[in-house]
Amino acid sequence: MTLSESRPVQSEKALAIVTRGTDWSETSRITTLFTREFGKIRALAKGGRRLKSNFDVAFDLLTVCEVVFIRKASGLELLTEARMNEQFPALRKNLPALYAGYYVAELLAEGLQDYDPHPVLFDAALAILRALGRTAVFYPEREGSTGAEEEGAVREGEGAPVSQAAGADSPVELGPEVNGARSVERTAPLRTEAGGGKGSLLATVSAFELVWLQELGYSPRLDACATCGRERLSPTARAFFSPLAGGVLCPECGPAVADRRMVSGDALLCIRDLTARGAETALPDETRAEVRQVLGYAVSCVLGRRPRMLNYVDAR
Ligand SMILES: [Zn+2]
Repeated sequence: MTLSESRPVQSEKALAIVTRGTDWSETSRITTLFTREFGKIRALAKGGRRLKSNFDVAFDLLTVCEVVFIRKASGLELLTEARMNEQFPALRKNLPALYAGYYVAELLAEGLQDYDPHPVLFDAALAILRALGRTAVFYPEREGSTGAEEEGAVREGEGAPVSQAAGADSPVELGPEVNGARSVERTAPLRTEAGGGKGSLLATVSAFELVWLQELGYSPRLDACATCGRERLSPTARAFFSPLAGGVLCPECGPAVADRRMVSGDALLCIRDLTARGAETALPDETRAEVRQVLGYAVSCVLGRRPRMLNYVDAR
């Protein structure tokens, strides 16, 4: 194929999750999208803040939209169309779930290279965002507050890096027909057992982290020593674990690995179940903190730093 001036401009179509929105000017917006077809892309939306002009979408964080874009040599693609596909308004009324959603966005925006598609990860992200809206964890002091107040509280709260989230733009109004998002919001339980709700939310987050690790090629090895390959004789026994080595370590290899930590057999079993069965796995109170530590540690190792949203996800 030869490059020629007469070559028609090639448009690409994709289903995308907005993982970062960056204001650029009054009339344009640079946004980071994780697309199912192409992986991560950065794109310029001209007129992106004037909702009714070129686009049917405000590029609020976590919005799912169908986009059409033109590839540019600069690596900053030009969006020509964006149509909203799905939003998750229930998250705005549920701070722990919203933080978990932002955490998902952070892992998608920071952990992947441009044009490295991971449809499995895309589908897992969509599934967790839908599930989070149903995982209600309401705190007593927030009782009776409106969604609008919640949004304000989130934006100003404790320096959380979420200023792009609700954004200055008003979210696009959702009709009741949009994927049932409204009805999910209405029918979400008003109150769950604090532990159960949080446990279920953290199981969902943990299952997503394991998909993320697996897709990036860092699924922790749990059945055999990550260094020498020796099979674990007792899968229920506690063992050394090293994210840098890539999983559990046998008693011989363990002491030589600097970032080793001892992890209980129950926590290792729980991580194995989360890998195999996803968020359906129960995350019991006794092992929850340990599982969260191990997975947070593993994710941080792959990312090269601790994710900003991780403390918010694991708070309380
Ligand atoms: Zn070994």
